[in-house]
Amino acid sequence: MTWIEQLKQQQPILWKNPHVEQVPQTFLLDDHLIDEAEARLERFAPYFEVAFPETKPTKGIIESPITVLTDQTLLKRDDILPVSGSIKARGGIHEVLLLAEQVARAEQLLTDEDYRQFATIRIQKALARHTIIVGSTGNLGLSIGIMSKKLGFQVVVHMSHDAKQWKKDMLRAHGAEVVEHAGDYSVAVRTGRLQAETEPLHHFIDDENSQALFAGYAVAARRLKQQLPTAPTVQNPLIVYVPCGVGGGPGGVIYGLKQQFGAAVKCCMVEPTASPCMLLGMATGKHDQISVQDIGLTNETIADGLAVGRASQFVGRLMEPLLDGILTVTDDMLRNYVRNVWQREQIFLEPSATAGFAGLDMLRERYPTAQHLVWATGGGLVPTAEKCQYFA
Ligand SMILES: *Cc1c(COP(=O)(O)O)cnc(C)c1O
Repeated sequence: MTWIEQLKQQQPILWKNPHVEQVPQTFLLDDHLIDEAEARLERFAPYFEVAFPETKPTKGIIESPITVLTDQTLLKRDDILPVSGSIKARGGIHEVLLLAEQVARAEQLLTDEDYRQFATIRIQKALARHTIIVGSTGNLGLSIGIMSKKLGFQVVVHMSHDAKQWKKDMLRAHGAEVVEHAGDYSVAVRTGRLQAETEPLHHFIDDENSQALFAGYAVAARRLKQQLPTAPTVQNPLIVYVPCGVGGGPGGVIYGLKQQFGAAVKCCMVEPTASPCMLLGMATGKHDQISVQDIGLTNETIADGLAVGRASQFVGRLMEPLLDGILTVTDDMLRNYVRNVWQREQIFLEPSATAGFAGLDMLRERYPTAQHLVWATGGGLVPTAEKCQYFA
């Protein structure tokens, strides 16, 4: 059976990327974007210590630890990233900070280089004239909503129909305006984009096409080097499994990892069998010009964070020389992973965040001398009542 038949039948598969460069040479993004993102997050660190005291232990840097599961398997804990408990606390927050900085410079709000001024009423009032708009399946909206409100911005989040009720409730409790859509993620993003078009004080964060988001995610990889128990080599590589929705989060992380470790890291994305938009885009070479609905799939999955039917406009192209493969995973597999991590580690991950375990299951034995890193992408803010449904 061809891969496309298997996709249509929603079988879990491993697609190997034929264009991957064994020794990666082709980095298509301008390097200074990631340098700037890293520097920006450092400039804002003193502000974070004030605005989000939970970042004090890391001196205002939003970073997550690694949990060692076994000798050779590691779990990257983006579920406990400060502020919003998901990988979106990297890219999403970075882009909000970029906008805050741009407005502050344009309106000469900063009296010196002390970014703790962003915690003052004076700057918050000035930022309140501006509105940030975003379309989301949930977690990006949460990150951007919480961060934007803290800085004083108005914020409108367009949510797809699969977004969880508690995510909408939490956002509203933070003072964000939530617009609910009957359509999926693509509809939510498109509506947000249109809303921002005509208003000069409206800023749209475009999850389908934002390099600022991507660069924010990529910073994670630079910091990983100090966290690994042993340095990866070509003989004993690091194999990384990252859940994929529109592609920005995993794409940014993988881009950064390949820059750091070159041929000593192998990278896989994992998508739900109902929403394999990145696999479909890369394997056909059509990228954002094809959707999972075009091949008869529903884009209905319990992995709400990955329920994206059409891939990013640019990430697939950047990934072509860098990504080793993409796996797909069924909802039943995700439910099992949620239960298993909880039973073994007392770590609660939302279904989307566990997708990386499918990669581990498939490739652990094939690469016995490698270190395997499962990127756990979220779950930190899930209310207890919500968690219980997975253990009924
Ligand atoms: C958004 C999200 C991802 C994937 O990120 P994309 O940028 O959409 O590919 C993975 N896991 C969780 C929990 C997410 O919220």
